[in-house]
Amino acid sequence: MKTLFEKIINREIPADIIYEDELCIAINDINPQAPIHILLIPKKPIKKLSECKKEDKDLLAHLFMTVVKVTEMLGIHDSFRININNGEEAGQEVFHLHIHILGGRKFNWPPG
Ligand code: 5GP
Repeated sequence: MKTLFEKIINREIPADIIYEDELCIAINDINPQAPIHILLIPKKPIKKLSECKKEDKDLLAHLFMTVVKVTEMLGIHDSFRININNGEEAGQEVFHLHIHILGGRKFNWPPG
């Protein structure tokens, strides 16, 4: 069965697409937790970060470099937070790897 994010990538479900290339897509989160809340999603449907294999090394590097690109595009690259929820206990709801990119407000530490 396709993940929610595969359906978005395939244009079966609409989303605000901020950025896309051959390996990943960035969309606005439907329930933003900050003025800017983007989900950066690899097109490869990896369930979660802990299931990445050695062969995913270049893809992971690409995702991190794309975080830099997207935050530059949005003018928040001096201050932003990224977050990956890995597993249910960590708050993961969609089991297709994604990086939350949050910006536009001050963040506290530790997170809840
Ligand atoms: P997780 O909890 O898995 O780390 O994050 C899933 C994120 O996907 C949540 O922040 C949630 O608001 C977002 N989300 C869930 N359904 C949709 C949707 O249909 N469209 C978009 N753009 N975001 C969604």
